[in-house]
Amino acid sequence: YLQAKYSDFVGSNVKQNGVDDMVLIPRINEAAITDNLKIRFLNNAIYTYIGPVLIAVNPFKDVKIFDDKFIDMYQGSALFENPPHIFAIADHMYRSMVSEMENQCVIISGESGAGKTVSAKLIMNYVSKVSGGSGRVEEVKEVILESNPLLEAFGNAKTVRNNNSSRFGKYVEIQFSRGGEPVGGKISQFLLEKSRVVLQNSGERNFHIFYQLCRGTRPEMKAAFNLAGPECFSYLNQSGSFDADGIDDVKEFGETLHAMEVMGMDESVQEDIISVLSGILHLGNVQFRSAAGDDQVDVVDVRQLESPAAFLQIDCETLRLKLTSRLMESKWGGKSENINVPLNQEQACYTRDALAKGLYSRLFDFIVESVNKAMVTQGSEVNVGILDIYGFEVFRQNGFEQFCINYVNEKLQQIFIELTLKAEQEEYRQEGIQWSEIQYFNNKEICEMIESKNPPGIFCVLDDVCATVHAVTEGIDSKFCQKLAGTFSSYRYFSYATDQFTISHYAGSVQYSPSGFCEKNRDALNNDLLLLMQSSSNAFIRALFPEKVQDRSRPTTAGTKIRSQANRLVKTLMSCTPHYIRCIKPNETKKPGDFDMERVKHQVMYLGLKENINVRRAGFAYRRPFDKFLKRYAILTKETWPQWRGDPKEGINHLMAHVAMDRAQWQLGKTKLFIKSPESKAFRSHNSDRA
Ligand code: ADP
Ligand code: MG
Repeated sequence: YLQAKYSDFVGSNVKQNGVDDMVLIPRINEAAITDNLKIRFLNNAIYTYIGPVLIAVNPFKDVKIFDDKFIDMYQGSALFENPPHIFAIADHMYRSMVSEMENQCVIISGESGAGKTVSAKLIMNYVSKVSGGSGRVEEVKEVILESNPLLEAFGNAKTVRNNNSSRFGKYVEIQFSRGGEPVGGKISQFLLEKSRVVLQNSGERNFHIFYQLCRGTRPEMKAAFNLAGPECFSYLNQSGSFDADGIDDVKEFGETLHAMEVMGMDESVQEDIISVLSGILHLGNVQFRSAAGDDQVDVVDVRQLESPAAFLQIDCETLRLKLTSRLMESKWGGKSENINVPLNQEQACYTRDALAKGLYSRLFDFIVESVNKAMVTQGSEVNVGILDIYGFEVFRQNGFEQFCINYVNEKLQQIFIELTLKAEQEEYRQEGIQWSEIQYFNNKEICEMIESKNPPGIFCVLDDVCATVHAVTEGIDSKFCQKLAGTFSSYRYFSYATDQFTISHYAGSVQYSPSGFCEKNRDALNNDLLLLMQSSSNAFIRALFPEKVQDRSRPTTAGTKIRSQANRLVKTLMSCTPHYIRCIKPNETKKPGDFDMERVKHQVMYLGLKENINVRRAGFAYRRPFDKFLKRYAILTKETWPQWRGDPKEGINHLMAHVAMDRAQWQLGKTKLFIKSPESKAFRSHNSDRA
């Protein structure tokens, strides 16, 4: 029955459905790869392999292949027994972990809206379904699954590309006992796009949680926190977008609260969180004004301060002072003295927004921390890690955020190159197979240009500029840009034009505007704001700001943090057996059945799928243990049918002679047969069988 059902969606005719392992594609170029994906996509076959790598094209509709029947079908079966599927990858990963007792990871890449987060959730779901356990194990599973709606509420937002776009990256490790039961987990998060709290592009939204809060809280809570519709808050009403298709904020708020409960966040913590969120929204409504002819600002209406002060539990007058002035040390004749320097309109808004962003990002850290606490364990043996991080980004305007994201993607691409080749080489070595090295584009040089310490890379230059110029002054960013130009002008992957620099990333050239780089890199809450929040009478809020003021002479910059996070991640990933899912977004319309050839071809190009196939083929595209191969092609000769008796190597020699396979095209390893490109007629009729 299942097979019948499955053939409904993949069909059984190879011609109609393309090849399900593109290693076997007759002609290797981007157009042919794209064509193959298109044929399959239009047949609802959204998954395709390149050897062990899974390509997933977002169907933008329910393709009905994820229910329990499919879990059963893929459970415990070999990768090539069934049509390509994410469950096959998940199953393979889980089984390998248990049988080899080795950590596994899956790296999910692709651009925004390509289906990474959905893929990550499908894997978590699958693993949770097929792994046994009761009691604490059930609890851990629930925490892992419920972490998704919780983190999405706080970390996802509607963007022009995706109504539920993750604005942070995450690496989720599910930890298992020796018996393969999930006993704990750990989430690391990367690069929350906190600027979204105060500013969104037109047509986009702030983080989901704010709309959930405005729309979903009970009436008495609404009254207590002075909440109203999102159109009443300046942080929510600037972008002109209040709704997201397919998202029901009221319903999702219920799910968020439920998830909080699962994490062990009780009602008082929930109320603290709501209080901080409300505080942020009301803070955004504080406006400033200066008297004519005067630079110095004051708040437009002191009543605007009442709500934020009340919900952040700080003193109203102090809040006013800190938003409109800044304590500066001034040195006069050897004496130093602290004076309050008044702020102008722009500086006051900047200070207000910095406080909102600081509050939100610390709240987000707290949420992640709570999830981690709820699934902390001692005594796990192995783990499966799932990396869902936002993909390569190119906008018309690209700033510090894009630079960091693209840098991390550059690092991931490097792992992809190294590990695919490394794994490939190792197998040939183990099997005693002769082969020749493969040429590929190595992006190591680009990574080094960005992150190297000696000679200083781009992050170092940025840190230097930030450290030598004290206040954020005008022109600091162009100073940074000029310094870049001076340092990297001779580099292949760098170019510079007036106040713009361009990096030729592996996925394409990106022009960056240096504006805001220094401020975002510095990423420090000024001491005034830190002290202000530490004066809160709410212990929860104080705990969000634990650092000591005097520790902060040269705080860690955002760039340094990202660089070390990325390198830690690489180290972790390199120590695991890797699996890959490359997600492809077929269109910009988010509609089912719409396959934009040009868009897909572009992704095929920068994901390096052609090179991936070539690497796989320059070696041996097809490899199969002797007995499996003999069984598969038994029907081709009468000596092998129904079963070959005798030495398996001889059986294979016999089969190969029968199909007249060129001797240079194949080799016998110790346990496996390797074929370069199995295009003999005899094999072609069977080429839905994958390598
Ligand atoms: P990404 O994380 O890569 O930005 P998402 O995983 O959030 O993208 O996917 C974007 C949207 O695409 C989802 O909200 C969903 O509507 C649709 N989608 C993605 N993968 C699938 C799938 N396998 N089946 C059906 N719809 C999907
Ligand atoms: Mg996502």
